Amino acid sequence: LLSPEPTTDHIFRSKLPDIPISNHLPLHTYCFQNLSSISDKPCLISGSSGKIYSFHETHLIAQKTAAGLSNLGIQKGDVIMILLQNCAEFVFAFMGASMIGAVSTTANPFYTPNEIFKQFKAARAKLIVTQSQYVDKLRDTNNVDNDENFPKMGEDFKVITIDDPPENCLDFSVLSEANENEIPQVSIHPDDPVALPFSSGTTGLPKGVVLTHKSLITSVAQQVDGENPNLYLKHDDVVLCVLPLFHIYSLNSVLLCSLRAGAAVLLMHKFEIGALLELIQRHRVSVAAVVPPLVLALAKNPVVAQFDLSSIRVVLSGAAPLGKELEEALRGRVPQAVLGQGYGMTEAGPVLSMCLGFAKQPFPTKSGSCGTVVRNAELKVIDPETGCSLGHNQAGEICIRGSQIMKGYLNDSGATAATIDVEGWLHTGDIGYVDDDGEIFIVDRVKEIIKFKGFQVPPAELESLLVSHPSIADAAVVPQKDEVAGEVPVAFVVRSNGFELTEEAVKEFIAKQVVFYKRLHKVHFVHAIPKSPSGKILRKDLRAKLAIAAAAQ
Ligand code: AMP
Repeated sequence: LLSPEPTTDHIFRSKLPDIPISNHLPLHTYCFQNLSSISDKPCLISGSSGKIYSFHETHLIAQKTAAGLSNLGIQKGDVIMILLQNCAEFVFAFMGASMIGAVSTTANPFYTPNEIFKQFKAARAKLIVTQSQYVDKLRDTNNVDNDENFPKMGEDFKVITIDDPPENCLDFSVLSEANENEIPQVSIHPDDPVALPFSSGTTGLPKGVVLTHKSLITSVAQQVDGENPNLYLKHDDVVLCVLPLFHIYSLNSVLLCSLRAGAAVLLMHKFEIGALLELIQRHRVSVAAVVPPLVLALAKNPVVAQFDLSSIRVVLSGAAPLGKELEEALRGRVPQAVLGQGYGMTEAGPVLSMCLGFAKQPFPTKSGSCGTVVRNAELKVIDPETGCSLGHNQAGEICIRGSQIMKGYLNDSGATAATIDVEGWLHTGDIGYVDDDGEIFIVDRVKEIIKFKGFQVPPAELESLLVSHPSIADAAVVPQKDEVAGEVPVAFVVRSNGFELTEEAVKEFIAKQVVFYKRLHKVHFVHAIPKSPSGKILRKDLRAKLAIAAAAQ
């Protein structure tokens, strides 16, 4: 008998050679490894106050914060929640936690009490660093669950605010003014977790994504280390940090990459076009990490013409697809800059690919491409039906393998096994192809996730809220294309027998429970939700229905 031919995977790799990566170190040691030579250089610049922290000060305050967290009882392996807009304290808390082997779960401060509570509880956080304006929401979390055993704010978990602390809260100075010599000696293993962002991945509810010291160091090194790195950041670069640090794109590709490369980070706590342009001009921003809606604003808003953007040399767009037309429109506004995309997914550490036009010796990059796979990693494209790997120019599901990917989902081995296969490949749920030049083009998504301006909107979360309504028997949420946001969530709803329910009432019911970008934009009442024999929502059918309706308009 003949045994079947052994099949070999078609694997794509970077055009750049692999490099040695110091991923045996703890993340903070790696990020501040060149401290002695850049000690007095600006590290963090506050966009609102203009205050500048040098690398030395940033490192020192992070050390004090580490000691302060330890004084408050935070130990290796414990989780703290960072619920902050972009600010220097975010960096001190994240780095300080890393220094004592603790883990930061980062959350959107605009979340509703319910959303904060779910993440806080799932992460088993012991402390929250936040702003006084969000403390009322934390008090509300005491009411959103009937779980008697859940810790109560002020009693069982500590809240630290970076501004005037309200009742039962501590001032950030308990951290930032602690004695840095009191940091406990902890031994940190490369596979220990350091960051715990939440993502719904390819299916279901948001889950904690365990990113280790090794994964984040590998990802940062893939971008900025070596002779001719993908993202060539220089010591005199000023990197715009307007994207929220609670999302891994900004945390990794903006903050950690800049710390490692010795570039300054300009922190903006919220996006407002006039203020953004003014800051770019004033601080001579040279690298701008953006998302497609921001590209739209920069390309189309007439106010842009009043500002000097000549300092910008790199514009990196990620988190959602950037159309060729938009890229071309932006080119007119910053003709001197290299524009390109990065493609990431929280679970992938997050960067899978990046434009090589940013490299020291840049390679030409096609517009619309997400760049080539990062080095020290393997990428393959598989047929979603058969699982067989595909060659150049054939579209299929993108999979990635390397030390940068997550360790797994927190306390969810089932979801982990459904995402990372036994050979270590992380399945992204994105459909794309690799062209003859090794460039990656994303063409579709087979996963459920909806992306509103780059933010995740997990359909399963909205569906479970919808069916908790007494007048709703069944529901499905799918994306609808939108010129400004990229995609918006729309619902198909089956009313319970005999119940009256208006579209407005459904929208309001959801709006009260979720952050602004998860709000429903349209509700279609239907008699049944199309499902497969195994009970899976046939999302493709619903998406097709929307596309037909849009085309008919
Ligand atoms: P997140 O985990 O929130 O970063 O979302 C990851 C998902 O965003 C990816 O799996 C893609 O679906 C999408 N995404 C990220 N970057 C890009 C890009 N450059 N082009 C198209 N889609 C992207």
